[in-house]
Amino acid sequence: MDTTLLVNLSYIVAAILFIYGLKLLGHPSTARNGNKLSAIAMFIAVVVTLLDQSIVSYSWIVVGILIGAAVGAFAARTIEMTSMPEMVALFNGFGGIASLLVGWAALSEPTLSGVTLFTIFLSILIGGVTFTGSLVAWGKLSETLAGKPILFTGQRVVNSGLMVAIVICGFLFVTQPETTTWLYLAIALSIALGILAVIPIGGADMPVVISLLNSYSGLAACAAGFAINNNILIVAGALVGASGIVLTNIMCKAMNRSLANVLFSGFGAVKDDTMVIEGEVKPLSPGDAYYILEAASSVAVIPGYGMAVAQAQHAVKELQELLESNGTEVVYGIHPVAGRMPGHMNVLLAEADVPYDLLLEMDDINPRMETVDVAIVIGANDVVNPAAREMEGSPIYGMPVINVDYARTVFVLKRSMASGFAGIDNPLFFKDNTRMIFGDAKETINQLIREFSD
Ligand code: NDP
Repeated sequence: MDTTLLVNLSYIVAAILFIYGLKLLGHPSTARNGNKLSAIAMFIAVVVTLLDQSIVSYSWIVVGILIGAAVGAFAARTIEMTSMPEMVALFNGFGGIASLLVGWAALSEPTLSGVTLFTIFLSILIGGVTFTGSLVAWGKLSETLAGKPILFTGQRVVNSGLMVAIVICGFLFVTQPETTTWLYLAIALSIALGILAVIPIGGADMPVVISLLNSYSGLAACAAGFAINNNILIVAGALVGASGIVLTNIMCKAMNRSLANVLFSGFGAVKDDTMVIEGEVKPLSPGDAYYILEAASSVAVIPGYGMAVAQAQHAVKELQELLESNGTEVVYGIHPVAGRMPGHMNVLLAEADVPYDLLLEMDDINPRMETVDVAIVIGANDVVNPAAREMEGSPIYGMPVINVDYARTVFVLKRSMASGFAGIDNPLFFKDNTRMIFGDAKETINQLIREFSD
């Protein structure tokens, strides 16, 4: 068979597997298979591309595969589950820089049409922005950089000016490709834009940024695919770009932001320091909490990032079973941005074999919160912060949250009065119906389990 035909047929098989894999990723019970299927598709795509006759030399490819596989295997084995979001941010960033380099390398072709030059420019622009933007997001997620927005006067003007300068450089590059200065300038400006576009965004809005950068990494790959005329790169890039945009949209809704607001940034920056929280903190021991739980007929568990840190999901499942055998109805309330990556809580609870039908989305749990006897907040903070509803000056004002304070009693399991990712105070801790159970979440739940077992 003709090699080009074989290559393209294999690409079609890979593309179908990618699409089916993505579909399977849509539900926790099928997600693992979806991942495997997509990995097989990627394997087919890589092998077929390597068999393609237009490969000039295999030596650099082999060196790249060995180094990449070693770094990837080491990172995958050693990474903590709680650091997964940072890893995703780095993946996005490396995807961006790879597209930038591929686009740049495409310039070595002897004849380049105007369209190809334009796609080279796009892969460089989007790849550069994704690379540095993702590094800043990684810095904020890993707390290497401050989570608070970094603002300076005239920021928007500078960013807009940068955008205009990049477009001018792009135009000059496409019309005068022999003058490489325009290309180098476009690379430098894109890299600068990535940094400047993400620094003014506050911690609370990072989920939107992460999924948007994920989408950008796909678009950059798609542009690189056009630049080097590789069909599977175009398809895979478009799939990542499109699914990233869908995810961004879901995240925007969860954060109550419009996409335009995200794109032109500067949001999450308003903070009213005059915000005063009234009430007093009422600590409770696990021993006393047990008596309240024992008498409860309905319990809602609201997990957050602290559950991931404490790795408390298995203990939570055990407590759920003890409560159920005591006649208590237990459900889980899952906020779309709880934790540090989309679906973070679903993944952890699935790992502990919590039945999917007990997981209620925010819009399903909120209307029934007033009928809940005890809401147990496990290491969640921002996603249950009533300031989003009550305090207009709050940076998270307007973000939909799980209204745990509407339950009859609220237990908040955390180690201290420290704030969450958004770095803001939480009036929930001071409400009349809230009891703080201080300590590591897993330790506290294990104590509750011991009380039930006794
Ligand atoms: P938060 O970050 O608001 O709060 C987590 C809380 O967990 C902290 O207040 C901390 O308090 C507590 N905690 C930490 N370790 C432990 C432990 N071992 N035991 C008990 N408690 C612990 O988490 P949420 O899930 O409520 O909110 C997610 C935040 O992350 C949002 O602001 C969201 O915008 C942001 N984000 C989400 C992303 C996503 O895609 N889901 C991506 C990026 C950011 P203490 O130190 O006192 O124990």
